[in-house]
Amino acid sequence: MKQVFEEKRHCCGCGACANICPVKAIDMQGDEEGFLYPKIDEDACVDCGKCVEICPFFAENNYKNTTLPLYYVAKHISEEVLMHSASGGAFTALSDAVLAEKGVVYGADFDEHFKVVHRRAVNSEERDRLRTSKYVQSDITYIYASVEEDLRQNKMVLFTGTPCQNAGLKGYVQSKNLEENLYLCDLLCHSVPSPLIWSEFLKILTKTYGAIAAINFRSKNMPWSRPNCKKAFYLKTVLGSHHADNRFLRLFLEEQTIARPSCEACLFTDEKRTGDITIGDYWGIEKYDAARYDALGVSLILTNTAKGEQLLQGLAGELRYERRDSKEALAEQQRLRTAIKFPPQREQFWLLYQKHGLEYLLEKTESK
Ligand SMILES: Cc1cc2nc3c(=O)[nH]c(=O)nc-3n(C[C@H](O)[C@H](O)[C@H](O)COP(=O)(O)OP(=O)(O)OC[C@H]3O[C@@H](n4cnc5c(N)ncnc54)[C@H](O)[C@@H]3O)c2cc1C
Repeated sequence: MKQVFEEKRHCCGCGACANICPVKAIDMQGDEEGFLYPKIDEDACVDCGKCVEICPFFAENNYKNTTLPLYYVAKHISEEVLMHSASGGAFTALSDAVLAEKGVVYGADFDEHFKVVHRRAVNSEERDRLRTSKYVQSDITYIYASVEEDLRQNKMVLFTGTPCQNAGLKGYVQSKNLEENLYLCDLLCHSVPSPLIWSEFLKILTKTYGAIAAINFRSKNMPWSRPNCKKAFYLKTVLGSHHADNRFLRLFLEEQTIARPSCEACLFTDEKRTGDITIGDYWGIEKYDAARYDALGVSLILTNTAKGEQLLQGLAGELRYERRDSKEALAEQQRLRTAIKFPPQREQFWLLYQKHGLEYLLEKTESK
């Protein structure tokens, strides 16, 4: 086999193909935009077709649930948790429930160079590193074997990630008949930005502010609100000083030039989700129920399966939640209706990036 996908728009980089390959002939490699794609070693390939069979783009129903979800508004009871969460702290409550059963949690973390990678957590200290949104496509290639091992040992496993990552892992786990103890949690997802532009931006940040000690894409120094999402990027340097620098968020959320090509062809921007449970921001809650608005964040939760509903019902000690009407929740959530539409200048952005580099493009954006 030459390729798993026909066009880049039809590869989300989940890595299920590389993990299912019986002869390990597939390697996930970064392209010129820094996104991972499967590269097949044709000499090693035995043409079994498993890589295509498992791909979320080809699988029956794309691994989506067939039933419609129940909608909830939710908020964690702890101010500390809200301060360290992107939205209303739903992830912390869900993961606490799994850790209490001696289970394992998977989610996105920064490595020592602030690259975004999925990691395994078995206690609250490790889990805390997975909290809050990192707006860069996370690499999940290496967690499949670890999730499989945990499930073989009958551990309860909570996987959190984008809907396409959930789809890839779901296909893999189903192919091994191991889904019983797996709880899948997908995020409402705008799109995933380029790891290459992120690494270039990190270099610029270091040059501008000095060595970085910590990064928060969704700092609660900014009151939680949709418009403030674009202003909430904070970093801390080793000198202890804090800086707000929203240039990366501007490329992601305003210019919309740095998302993965498959985000425009996303299969997962409707109510039929890949996870048992879905979490996001409850945008617009102040209009529907002002008493529920909180400047520290409010979560939207969708329970998509009986398993997801059962998980949520066990969280009453940590999470205040209430059923809401689907129309209300859907009104402010484009990513439950349509995929992102790339602007015409996306192509130009990448051409200029190859030619002049990121610093030039950031200066150009600023001078607008
Ligand atoms: C790229 C991206 C786009 C998003 N787009 C939207 C959107 O359009 N609308 C909306 O309502 N919500 C969106 N979210 C979700 C939202 O930002 C919060 O992550 C979500 O509400 C959970 O918040 P929390 O307070 O429950 O928990 P938090 O503690 O904030 O939990 C963070 C959770 O997000 C996961 N996560 C963080 N970064 C990544 C990543 N790069 N890849 C995969 N998983 C990650 C962690 O594993 C953890 O489970 C997006 C998140 C990401 C990462």
